[in-house]
Amino acid sequence: MRYECARCSGRTVTTMPLTLPDGRDMTFVTCHVCESNVWVDADGARWTKDQLFAAARK
Ligand SMILES: [Zn+2]
Repeated sequence: MRYECARCSGRTVTTMPLTLPDGRDMTFVTCHVCESNVWVDADGARWTKDQLFAAARK
């Protein structure tokens, strides 16, 4: 899967795999252009920080 920035659509991003406590695989995407950070799940849906923290608390 190719990732791009949710804010500026830049393709210069760093991705880091991340597994939540419930076993869900997420990818942390950092944009080099505008420095936005987003989490994307295996289906390509973008998660907010609040959603991520809520899932991590379960
Ligand atoms: Zn960006």
